Amino acid sequence: MGKGKVYLIGAGPGDPDLLTIKAAKCIKRADVIVYDRLVNSRILDYAADEAEMVYVGKKPGFHCMPQAEINRILVKKSMEEKTVARIKGGDPFVFGRGGEEAEELVKNNVEFEIVPGITSAVAAPAYAGIPVTHRDYSSSFHVVTGHEARDGSGVSIDYEALARIQGTLVFLMGIGNIRLICNNLMKHGKNPHTPAAVVENGSGFNQKTVTGTLEDIHKKVLDSGINPPSVTVIGNVVKLGKKLSWFPRGPLKGRRILVTRSRGQSKELVEKIEGLGGEAVVFPVIKITRPDSFSKFDIVLNEIRLYKWLVFTSANGVEAFFSRMKDTGMDLRLLSKINICAVGAATKGEVLKHGILCDFVRQSHTGKELLADFLKIVAPGEKVLLARSDIAGNNLPESLKKAGIEFTELKAYKTVGQKPSNTGDIINMLNNGKLDYITFTSSSTVKNFVKSIGKGNIGRTRDLKVVCIGRAACETAVSEGFAGAVPADEHTIDSLLDLIVKIEKGGI
Ligand code: SAH
Repeated sequence: MGKGKVYLIGAGPGDPDLLTIKAAKCIKRADVIVYDRLVNSRILDYAADEAEMVYVGKKPGFHCMPQAEINRILVKKSMEEKTVARIKGGDPFVFGRGGEEAEELVKNNVEFEIVPGITSAVAAPAYAGIPVTHRDYSSSFHVVTGHEARDGSGVSIDYEALARIQGTLVFLMGIGNIRLICNNLMKHGKNPHTPAAVVENGSGFNQKTVTGTLEDIHKKVLDSGINPPSVTVIGNVVKLGKKLSWFPRGPLKGRRILVTRSRGQSKELVEKIEGLGGEAVVFPVIKITRPDSFSKFDIVLNEIRLYKWLVFTSANGVEAFFSRMKDTGMDLRLLSKINICAVGAATKGEVLKHGILCDFVRQSHTGKELLADFLKIVAPGEKVLLARSDIAGNNLPESLKKAGIEFTELKAYKTVGQKPSNTGDIINMLNNGKLDYITFTSSSTVKNFVKSIGKGNIGRTRDLKVVCIGRAACETAVSEGFAGAVPADEHTIDSLLDLIVKIEKGGI
């Protein structure tokens, strides 16, 4: 029987950008993605749309899937000739049970590759400014499980040796046992004044660090409400943390921001939120698709020379128009005599991607204002082509009609509402006050957000800040029950982020 292949992949400690290039390539290529709790959802976005997603981590209130069951899934999927990406937090061979999974694959003659990841044992301290080695303080580091401290002296861990050693000690999975761990070390002679730090959610937007000494760190952990996942670092290198502290940083640090626009369009917003230190939670309540039929589209393209004006009101319209031209083998020079009009800077930017400078750009999205200017420059008898979404409003076409301008409306793409697979998680976040902002970039994102979470859950958004691109989106948000919705000054992602930063600084 032919067999597939399994990649045992380390996804790094949390920051999705710490994924290796090889890991991203393997995830993209996989038919099946097998993942657990510590894997950031942004990493799963590398998976192909049609990939099968298998969650094998802990579910709230339930235990982890037994290891034997995970092994069985890996073998079964590879027997079906599938390429499997088994993704684990950090590095797969550092307390990840990756070794056991690899043994199982060998036993079943399944081809596999190991893709090492950045382990939290090194990265979490690094993100807290703590180098695990340093010429002046420590010439080794020792990564230890904190899981086995439970029986007092530790079953298989030689605390006596650990207490004696001068190198840095890093305990994983130990937060619940931190008092025992420290006591065991002190009992075996480790100096109670040895510096110690605990780093929670290392490299995540919500990273937290507490520092103390072997003697008092357990109390500090308790007082500051530190939770898993956390690493405990013990040794003189901890002293450097204060001097070398560099993360989290940025005006949005610690803030969680919901991105509701389509997945394909959310990249810029997500990256900029992360660049400012926040966490973007992707919740694509709409998706942009091709029109059901291209027959009208193609008729219009065949007659494109008859038009004097080509009007785009969104970047999606531009994208749809030019990709159809390309797909049907049309030469861009056919547009050379046509004036191109864009609404909004993002739309103008999308046109520019094709090497074309717009002849007319208007900031506002409302048909009325666009029309007022437009009427001044469109001469009688000049034909206008409006390339828009299937759900675009009627204002603009009606005004054009009234003004006697000859136009064709082309539904260049479809905006489809969808209930994202993480809807349950988002409702939980709303219930637990885990979100700070919701971003809406169009009226359709507002409407489909409400549809996805259910009208009954809107009340739960009361403490959140709602920020929008465009007055139309903002008006829709207010009418859907988000009373405090605020519009960005301009129709751009940067302006939306400026607004959030301004709110953070108390400017609004
Ligand atoms: N293979 C993983 C470790 C898995 S064991 C790795 O190489 O990082 C799970 C433990 O890893 C957690 O209990 C915690 O101690 C640690 N851990 C994982 N991610 C972490 C993070 N972002 N910050 C702090 N500790 C983390």
